[in-house]
Amino acid sequence: MSDVGKLGSDSVVAFCVAQSQAGADHEADYRALTKDNGYVWIRDVVHVVRNAQGEPEALIGFMFGISEQKKTEEKLLALQKELEALSFKDGLTHITNRRRFNACLEIEWDSARSQRQPLSILLFDIDYFKQYNDLYGHVRGDQCLIDIAQTLNLALDGPRDLVARFGGEEFIVLLPQANAEVARKVAERCQRLVQKQTIAHAQSPHGQHITVSVGVGTVVAGGLESTKPSDFIDAVDQQLYAAKRSGRNRIEMVVLSD
Ligand code: GH3
Ligand code: MG
Ligand code: MG
Repeated sequence: MSDVGKLGSDSVVAFCVAQSQAGADHEADYRALTKDNGYVWIRDVVHVVRNAQGEPEALIGFMFGISEQKKTEEKLLALQKELEALSFKDGLTHITNRRRFNACLEIEWDSARSQRQPLSILLFDIDYFKQYNDLYGHVRGDQCLIDIAQTLNLALDGPRDLVARFGGEEFIVLLPQANAEVARKVAERCQRLVQKQTIAHAQSPHGQHITVSVGVGTVVAGGLESTKPSDFIDAVDQQLYAAKRSGRNRIEMVVLSD
């Protein structure tokens, strides 16, 4: 017995006729139009009755309504798609998560290498965020993370630019094809937009508002051959910590070229 699954109507009919003529048992699922322009799913099961010599003598067909079963299958498929989409997102901020970021970085890295283009990343860390939580509570802390994620998202304009949540209060931005100058401009724009949001932080020495420190890295030509993406991120992380050490609310940069 064969199962043709979801074929278009012409091919379903052709299949059933061919199987019947060949004297083979078969089964087909298809949609049938209803009077009100809807449709119902039908499963057609055909059994070939043979005579004493084994020659086909008659066909016995059964038809089952399987609309409910199909509806359940469709719902499961939609749920599967939804779960797939969710598995790429950070649960709190709804921006890209780190796993997806890493996958995108690998792809962009290969593309930059073959196209001989630069590639930059920006690593952000919110300044004095532990104190912010202590002062205003975790709910406000969570809202602050959501707001910063949205601001960083708005600051990007390249079609392949991507912002992701990297860890607790750290965000990472991927800027394909961006050289060091472009990366610096984007980092400055992000920093400016965060400051313009004026999220109050009474214990921050930087205008009593939330600020971010940024590590910026650009990799060009030979650097794409000699470095691994994870080493590049480590180098950018070191810049971020340099920005922290030198007072926070700052940008530090590195260029890897060989
Ligand atoms: P620095 O200026 O050096 O970055 O100091 P910091 O206080 O920001 O850094 P630290 O690493 O000491 O603290 C990070 C804080 O971020 C601690 C943690 O409670 C908070 N955090 C991490 N993830 C979340 C989250 O999902 N929600 C909230 N509300 N807070 C978070
Ligand atoms: Mg941190
Ligand atoms: Mg921090």
